[in-house]
Amino acid sequence: MSLDKKLSPEQEPEPESKRQKRNEQEIIMQPPWSELFSPDSCGHWFILYGVCTVCKSRVDRGGLARASDYYFEGLQLSQEALALTKRLTTRFSCNMKKLHLVLDLDHTLIHSVKLGYLSEAEKYLIEEAGSTTREDLWNIKVRGDHMYVSTILDYLTKLRPFARDFLKEANEMFTMHVYTKGTRHYAKAILELIDPTKLYFGHRVITRDESPDSKTLDLVLADERGVLVVDDTRRVWPNHKRNLVEISRYKYFRFEGQESKPHSEEMTDESESNGGLADALRSLKEVHYRFLGSRKSWRLWTLGCCFKI
Ligand SMILES: [Mg+2]
Ligand SMILES: [Zn+2]
Repeated sequence: MSLDKKLSPEQEPEPESKRQKRNEQEIIMQPPWSELFSPDSCGHWFILYGVCTVCKSRVDRGGLARASDYYFEGLQLSQEALALTKRLTTRFSCNMKKLHLVLDLDHTLIHSVKLGYLSEAEKYLIEEAGSTTREDLWNIKVRGDHMYVSTILDYLTKLRPFARDFLKEANEMFTMHVYTKGTRHYAKAILELIDPTKLYFGHRVITRDESPDSKTLDLVLADERGVLVVDDTRRVWPNHKRNLVEISRYKYFRFEGQESKPHSEEMTDESESNGGLADALRSLKEVHYRFLGSRKSWRLWTLGCCFKI
């Protein structure tokens, strides 16, 4: 008796033609990649407006995914996606021989004061703001939300000497980001003045709205080994001091309790060629040259060597 005859009908071997047909049907009905992209096995790396861009399922990750909508509206990244995006943006910039630069706004690129805080001797500036003779001074109105009540805040904003040249030259060497302790409304108003076409910063703007406490490179979509920071306040970068190029504090308007006359009252200003931004640019050029200008540093960089100032 052959072995086959002992088998029940369910155990009988399937004819070759029938098996092949079934396999074909399975491939059509369940392509192998459907498992890869199925909601159960998908890592939901990139979530847009609550929907995974890969498996298309609705995902509520709450605090588990990093809200990245300051870069791209509605986007949330998983930790894995964040790490991958950081690596890719850094590699992309490196291919263009660029590092990343994070710039503070207040007292680094500008000095702003609320109109109500101007001294009597400074009030002449309200007339001058926005005039053809003062392309470095503006009166801006910013929406403020205080205790759920919307208000309009009036500021005078002064551009730091050398700021335009600084941005132009730094843009050649770096992919630039803004990181401010001001609100998003405030940053938007300032950027409309200093980068109206989004040439320098694009959508790479991080504000108090996303980062209410200390500043961190975790929020910057670039590998921190390739990021430099220019900021006048060292203490706001507790974990990234080695990335920091500390710049002198730009003060144009009168501070409360200030004894000496400020630039605004003296009708003077910081030096263009030897002020804080010119100094910072010299440091940035040196670092850029050290890391990307020489063949050896470039090789070390691409090998993943640690970035130190
Ligand atoms: Mg500052
Ligand atoms: Zn998914």
